[in-house]
Amino acid sequence: MLSVLGRYVDSACVDSKRPLGLGARAVADPISAVVQDSLAHYSYQQPCTRLAGRFRRRAFVHRVGGWRGTQDSRRHNVRHRRSFLSVSMNSPPDFGIVKKRSRESVLFITLDSCRYDTLVSARVPTIRSVGPVHKAEAPSYFTYGSHSAMFAGFTPGLAHLQQPILNPKFGKLFKLVGAGFPGKGTEAYELDGRTIVEGFTRLGFKTIGTGAVGWFNPHVPTGRHLSEHFERFFYPGNSYSLDRQLEFVANELNAADGDVFVFLNVGETHVPYYFNGAAWGADDNPCIPFQTANRRAECRQRQQLCCEFADGMLRNLIAEFLESTILICGDHGDCWGEDGLWEHGVSHRCTLTVPLVIRVRGEPIFADESKAISAEKGTGFARFLSRAKSLRSEAW
Ligand SMILES: [Zn+2]
Repeated sequence: MLSVLGRYVDSACVDSKRPLGLGARAVADPISAVVQDSLAHYSYQQPCTRLAGRFRRRAFVHRVGGWRGTQDSRRHNVRHRRSFLSVSMNSPPDFGIVKKRSRESVLFITLDSCRYDTLVSARVPTIRSVGPVHKAEAPSYFTYGSHSAMFAGFTPGLAHLQQPILNPKFGKLFKLVGAGFPGKGTEAYELDGRTIVEGFTRLGFKTIGTGAVGWFNPHVPTGRHLSEHFERFFYPGNSYSLDRQLEFVANELNAADGDVFVFLNVGETHVPYYFNGAAWGADDNPCIPFQTANRRAECRQRQQLCCEFADGMLRNLIAEFLESTILICGDHGDCWGEDGLWEHGVSHRCTLTVPLVIRVRGEPIFADESKAISAEKGTGFARFLSRAKSLRSEAW
């Protein structure tokens, strides 16, 4: 049986330019130990049979530690854990042999409520293997609004860059085209439909979706809006069932050979910042609107651990799409006491700033700062500011 711990340790140990990976940090850092212990506990509860079968069959070579063997048991975890404690790790993650999806296929993951500063401070080697983490502006400050916009092609972006894909205004990753909205030629995918999901379906993609938070509940009208266009959709009923969501996706992918569009909304990073097996309870929410207690440190710590948990769980799914297109982002952030505000659902720089990672047809998307709009050079931004100023004075 392939354990979740095994996958998590694998992904953690080969990342990082630091001398030691997560395992070493776990010895000195009780927080990481919490995640690792939780995953260890979890690994005996939730086997992922499809992935287990795949890994049982394949030979596995670790780039670190010089150990060669078959990844199929807890014995591996013990041996591997021992090996990565004593070596330097500069290699990218070794994903081994996994089935690769078509170049056109798409994996779209939203880490619900994930703040940019959370993700960049977390140990997330799997997510970092996809591409650089950009600091982006979200299209809205709550789940329904943000996903509605993203499903219309308005993904998070970097407004200061005149660069397609990273700035959807300049060129969209997913462009809904129609009679009134022709493509500009700078888009990665041109789609025709009410949403990008419908657009991919029309192109013959199998569309698979799963959303963890309540806005994706297909049994209520508001939830149907975000879920109805998927050919197959799964709502787990709570925000901490990433294992069941991944099992659903794995089963659906098993039955799909052609182009696929997979959407996954991760709920663990949403309040109450809880994952299965965490050292705290799901009923202890450190981020409640209008609260007076300052629990910012717990919010930061718990959301970071949720990111690390999700990163380990996502390893094999992401590996399948590394030659395809991957979009990973927060749908919005959370306030943790800034300006007296907590949680999301309010328009604030903390709810509108999100991490963004993009890989298009196997190529990670880096920011080209030479394409930044410069006020000093008197280019677009300065003109925009002067125009905005005149508009404001007219309005008042
Ligand atoms: Zn959300």
